[in-house]
Amino acid sequence: GRTETLLEVNNIEVIYNHVILVLKGVSLTVPKGGITALLGGNGAGKTTTLKAISSLLRSERGEVTKGSILYRGQRVQDLDPAELVRMGVIQVMEGRHCFEHLTIEENLLTGAYTRSDKGQIAADLEMVYSYFPRLKERRRSQAGYTSGGEQQMCAIGRALMSRPETILLDEPSMGLAPQLVEQIFEIVRAVNENEGVTFLLAEQNTNVALRYAHYGYILESGRVVMDGPAAELRENPDVKEFYLGMS
Ligand code: ATP
Repeated sequence: GRTETLLEVNNIEVIYNHVILVLKGVSLTVPKGGITALLGGNGAGKTTTLKAISSLLRSERGEVTKGSILYRGQRVQDLDPAELVRMGVIQVMEGRHCFEHLTIEENLLTGAYTRSDKGQIAADLEMVYSYFPRLKERRRSQAGYTSGGEQQMCAIGRALMSRPETILLDEPSMGLAPQLVEQIFEIVRAVNENEGVTFLLAEQNTNVALRYAHYGYILESGRVVMDGPAAELRENPDVKEFYLGMS
């Protein structure tokens, strides 16, 4: 049957501080059950796009000044970010953002704040540990003393604890060794396949993102310059030359 569209971004423009035009008409579609990648270099507008979707722009003096963002057909711009979490959309921010003074397990439990069923929360914790055995080993460690890879896992695990339908994942590879990057993406794929969680991920590492995503959008200076199924983008000569570092 036809795939259901969860998220629809229509021609949005984003301005910071009333004057800095950063997104100049970005459109994209995220189908239910897919992994969609938002690609592009430093400053292309990937993070801004994710924050526009999750209503996190306001705290940065950013504003969607044109276009619309729909989740399940409902207009979501200007919503309270917590409202979006209740609708099933959660963002994992760039740079991980674990609570350094809490243990890994306490961090994970903060992700379940919208829920109260203790049995279900315990089951979800086990679900998260099944994807991240490393977090289980480290569950009593203070997050601030764990490695960058463990903190990235912790941030994704915490997002999973809210039982989201969609995760907006910002730059999961940032600062991680290649082998760990691969490991994180393997887990993203497993969560996508086994839990049916939909992903929209922003990534500068085009090479790895296009191996795990189903569909990709390439942003340059606040515009989508190319989009297509990941397998096609991987074979595209321009993508190879400019983003995959080969020609
Ligand atoms: P990166 O991988 O570096 O995060 P990106 O593609 O995610 O890159 P954005 O972070 O969305 O890009 O930034 C896009 C542009 O918006 C950049 O030129 C950046 O300087 C600018 N920008 C981002 N945040 C703000 C802000 N709060 N105020 C003003 N300009 C901003």
